[in-house]
Amino acid sequence: MELEKKPRIRRNKNFIVEENIDAVHWPRECARCGGSVDVEDKFTLEKDFKTLGKIHINLSGIPYCRECFPMIQRGKKIGQVRFILALVLGIPIAALMILSAARQPGTTFILCGLLLVIGVLIGYGLSWLIIALPVKLLFKKSVAEPVDAWLIEEQKANGIQGVSVVLEIPYRTYADKFAQLNGVVIEEKKK
Ligand SMILES: [Zn+2]
Repeated sequence: MELEKKPRIRRNKNFIVEENIDAVHWPRECARCGGSVDVEDKFTLEKDFKTLGKIHINLSGIPYCRECFPMIQRGKKIGQVRFILALVLGIPIAALMILSAARQPGTTFILCGLLLVIGVLIGYGLSWLIIALPVKLLFKKSVAEPVDAWLIEEQKANGIQGVSVVLEIPYRTYADKFAQLNGVVIEEKKK
């Protein structure tokens, strides 16, 4: 007899799946509008972690209706373009900041690393102004934010260091149903 595997999930702003991502259940309705399930989206997540090596995870079965799916696909494309633009703009900005910092005595590698992060963040902000904002204003009806997923290394609730999957579910109603279906305990905010 085999016990059914259960995912272990925490909920913050996003869902953090600590264990058994393949046992995650998706509510059988469109993850954006609650309509019929016509298409299932999937992700291939891969990342090289310094201590844990290469981690490869397939995620599938994210349901969308026929109307929403093309909008989601466009949303994903825009996300990718934004990421590239953030680097294209952010790295030269960071390089300029690092160059001017390097003229001062006592510049450390840590400071340079920090400036690189700040530069890319500025780039990401600019890419929002240049791409995300106009798209939001002009193509509101043809683009939608996708359910997104990525990998992080973290200390899990049981204290063990490992890789978890972050799931970003932008639609609140669906996110709540997802939480319920997977037995996610909602941590009440401390007052
Ligand atoms: Zn839909």
